[in-house]
Amino acid sequence: MHRAVYFLGIVLFTAAATHPYPGAELNAQQRPNIVLITLDTLRADRIGAYGYKLAETPALDRLAREGIRFADATSQSPLTGPAHAALLTGQYPGRFAIRNNASTPLPDSAATIAEALKASGYRTGAFIGAFVVDRAYGFGQGFDEFDAAFEGYRQDLKSQVQRPAAKVIDPAIAWIGGNAGAPFFAWVHLYDAHTPYSAPPPYGAKFKARPYDGEVAYVDAQIGRLIAALRASGTLDRTIVALIGDHGEALGDHHEEDHGIFLYEGVMRIPWIMRLPAGSGATAGRVVDEQVRSIDLAPTLLELAGVPAGGGGDGESLAGVIRGSRRRDPPASYSETWYPQLHFGWSRLRALRVGEWKYIDAPRPELYDLRTDRAEQRNVIADRSAVAARMAADLEAIEKSFGAAATTSTPQPDAETIARLRSLGYVGLAAPSSGSGRGPDPKDKILELKEFRALLTAAGDDLREGRHDAALAKLKRAVSLNEQAYDVHVMLGSAWQAKGDLEKALGEFDAAALLNPGGAAPQLLAADALLEAGRLESALERTGKAAEVEPRSGDVASMRGRIFERAGRGPEALAEYQRAVDLNPADAPTRGRLASVAMAIRRYDVAERELNLLLKSNYQPSRTHYVLGRLAEAKGDKAAAAASYRRALALEPGFAPARKALEALGKSEV
Ligand SMILES: [Zn+2]
Repeated sequence: MHRAVYFLGIVLFTAAATHPYPGAELNAQQRPNIVLITLDTLRADRIGAYGYKLAETPALDRLAREGIRFADATSQSPLTGPAHAALLTGQYPGRFAIRNNASTPLPDSAATIAEALKASGYRTGAFIGAFVVDRAYGFGQGFDEFDAAFEGYRQDLKSQVQRPAAKVIDPAIAWIGGNAGAPFFAWVHLYDAHTPYSAPPPYGAKFKARPYDGEVAYVDAQIGRLIAALRASGTLDRTIVALIGDHGEALGDHHEEDHGIFLYEGVMRIPWIMRLPAGSGATAGRVVDEQVRSIDLAPTLLELAGVPAGGGGDGESLAGVIRGSRRRDPPASYSETWYPQLHFGWSRLRALRVGEWKYIDAPRPELYDLRTDRAEQRNVIADRSAVAARMAADLEAIEKSFGAAATTSTPQPDAETIARLRSLGYVGLAAPSSGSGRGPDPKDKILELKEFRALLTAAGDDLREGRHDAALAKLKRAVSLNEQAYDVHVMLGSAWQAKGDLEKALGEFDAAALLNPGGAAPQLLAADALLEAGRLESALERTGKAAEVEPRSGDVASMRGRIFERAGRGPEALAEYQRAVDLNPADAPTRGRLASVAMAIRRYDVAERELNLLLKSNYQPSRTHYVLGRLAEAKGDKAAAAASYRRALALEPGFAPARKALEALGKSEV
């Protein structure tokens, strides 16, 4: 038995240690700046400083040489949203019922590191690389500036909306330059290492045989650019730079290609490097090899900044460890994934790491001794049942401590929904769900996943290209393989909607909502189908259900706007569209609708402002110039109108409305 296990029960339930704050006497002006860089999907053992010989990561390697490297850091979740909730709050994401991406948002009641720093006089700015950590999901709390200028935002693909590191780093450097006077906290989120692996030149070509490494090299180069800017301005030595992964990438380990299904080390072990201000007393190049956790990040940064953490968090400050002390028994790390349940109806998984023991709670539980079995190939649970039993009990106690609020309750379907599900043949889904989360063991299913996903990808291509019957055939096959697969029901709903079968479409969206109740998407899709069928009251009702799940979603406001617009309630549509783009400024299609409604109800001030914003974001510029022309005409400025129509035609010579409008202007002048 490893020593650490003896102390497990004690260590787990001491409240977060309340260290004296050595920096507490600092006034705001003396406090260090903080740059937090979260490295999405960056597997620790693909970085040079972590021993990867083929790595091209000079910036990260240099930061490790000049700072401190945590050799054994673990994530709390293999998914971006929940993992970031842990990083930014120091709490287990399960406490907030955050179990999936683009779903249940971080509640306003959560205390984030940005809020604590802002309250202590910091200027705060966030620069993110993917929509799944945008304000809609609660990640904007405490930030003065939140930069998420995604090009090409689409509601139907929002969990894939992202931008490359260069486009995140540029505004971050500019903002830091403008805020170097007061202490600042900048959060920079770099998403590139996520699938698809398609690094920009020269990395794509250079790493053709190792595309994941190419993305990592590109991310590293962009980090190098940010650090160089800090160095050049003399800011670096007054700044804590913290670089930490949200989760890794399986890259084929245990037959998993990316991340989310399993809790194995390739995904759960994350890089964590800190470079501290000059004179901080930390030894450059030190490597900490005791286990640390992503929930420890927030309390650590707050203590180093001399800002009270408020206490009561799950994480523990590592400021002492950074200064060289060793803890006798580093606390256990709990992690979980509900992704297998929410997307496939398989069992959710939970894991506990204590020292070198790792226990995974699954229908067939696993125990690994990481000292001798880093790759988790030998399940020793039969030989070490006492260790496993103790860890299982501790794991259970941690999840229990999350309380009832952390359990996403599945609303029981009403009679109408049950009837719809039964008519589609989903007898199992129509039965009240137990919510135990104990479906098949993911490790028994993982080999089927590749083929299943290929089927869905092909069906998605069919749908996009209008081959609805071909899509339906593939999706029916997929649903016969796994009736519990959320994504299949979403796609089936879209296929039936495209074929004009509203009842079947609603049934599929209901099935999706039942399987994955934390997200607003199925209700919004149902609202869209109802709106298309002209059933505005029902559409509005569905939108209300979506709002209960994701109250800050711009998509919910956008849908309300469309319903009001269809109902001829222009001013209300305008207000909802305005709210939608306030919540999500990257939603250019909704901004387009806002401008068009504003034109229709003669709110020319609003129309002009929004059209100019659309031009700035380069959204459908020919159409935007055309509408600016109409606006100028409405205001009686024919010269400006003609100029706008000509601009539209220069960009899109075949754009008939602009040509007609220009001709009509010419005639009126004669
Ligand atoms: Zn991620």
